[in-house]
Amino acid sequence: MKRILFLFSDTGGGHRSATEAIIEAMSADYPGEFSCNMVDFFRSYYPAPFKYAPEIYQRMAKYPIGWSIPYELSDGKRRTRMAYGLSYPVLRRAMHRLLAENPCDLVVSVHPLPNNTVLRAMRHHPKPLITVVTDMVTTHAFWYERRANVVIVPTEAAKKLALKYGVPEARVRVIGLPVAAKFSTPLLDRSAWRREQGWDESLPTALLVGGGDGMGPLLKVAKALNEASLPMQLAVICGRNEDLKADMEALEWNIPAHIYGFTTQMPAFMGASDMLITKAGPGTISEGFIAGLPLILYSRLPGQEDGNVTYVKENGAGVWAPNAKAVLETVREWVAQPEARAAAAAASKSLAKPDAAKDIAKVIAEQVGVA
Ligand code: UDP
Repeated sequence: MKRILFLFSDTGGGHRSATEAIIEAMSADYPGEFSCNMVDFFRSYYPAPFKYAPEIYQRMAKYPIGWSIPYELSDGKRRTRMAYGLSYPVLRRAMHRLLAENPCDLVVSVHPLPNNTVLRAMRHHPKPLITVVTDMVTTHAFWYERRANVVIVPTEAAKKLALKYGVPEARVRVIGLPVAAKFSTPLLDRSAWRREQGWDESLPTALLVGGGDGMGPLLKVAKALNEASLPMQLAVICGRNEDLKADMEALEWNIPAHIYGFTTQMPAFMGASDMLITKAGPGTISEGFIAGLPLILYSRLPGQEDGNVTYVKENGAGVWAPNAKAVLETVREWVAQPEARAAAAAASKSLAKPDAAKDIAKVIAEQVGVA
């Protein structure tokens, strides 16, 4: 049995979901062939302050300006070299311990930050490294290591950046963002599901989501939609943000509204809705494509999520609506003109890559000689 070590971290929800989707595909397509081990390298091994990265990310992501400064300052070939050079003496022991405690035949990194460090630490006992890039278009230089055996990217635009940062073309594969298989199972009876949830069966339904942590101006958007009293209903997923859930529940609703905390049923929520209002997280966007939902993107992390917005807009799958008024205008249009909504829905569906996780599992299997 081949042992695969997955390096990820809970800086946002996307790296974990992408890793789990690949592991799920590996167990389904190669039963009994692999033992897969997921390690949050920041939290479980790196010393302070690095080990607080998931918590720091959560705070910084709330203040896009604070996020954009270190992001921009570190983006670039020479700058990443410098950052890695300076941090390696501090991280070397942690990475050696991680590799000693998690023996493997191949490393898959689903995060930009351990790639150079793990390659340096494996210098004397090299193992193949596959990087799975989970940002869509404007991907940070940290992702790209020319010595990685395979660099898997979701889009042609990300491939261009990989080449720019020196990854040989033969090592870059454009596959897609890995998404759990459950997103590809269509909701068989939409009306029945809506009934079970207490939703109206026929009203146009907007699904409002802010990633796993319920981030962004969801309350403002919900208030604007509520005040407009359009002939629609709203489903809000607050994720792990309990304050937001309480605030949403306290609103006096003029339209049918259904408020939820963190859900494991996102595919059904998407399948039962008609439009998706979300921050520009790559996971949620890719899931929305598979569900064929037209997208309204209300916020993004500067840098890494800028390209997600352009990708959605340029392909006609949705709009950039950076404030509550702009969100309301698009919802108003899509409620009044189902044909405009349908055109964006079709464009969204055309960008779906439901087999990405399976295709990535195949690349991993090939690298370790499992046919
Ligand atoms: N998600 C979920 N349940 C929730 C809220 C979100 O399963 O209640 C999932 C969502 O389906 C997606 C991930 O969390 O897979 C969020 O990833 P994304 O890249 O959109 O944003 P991040 O949280 O990483 O910034």
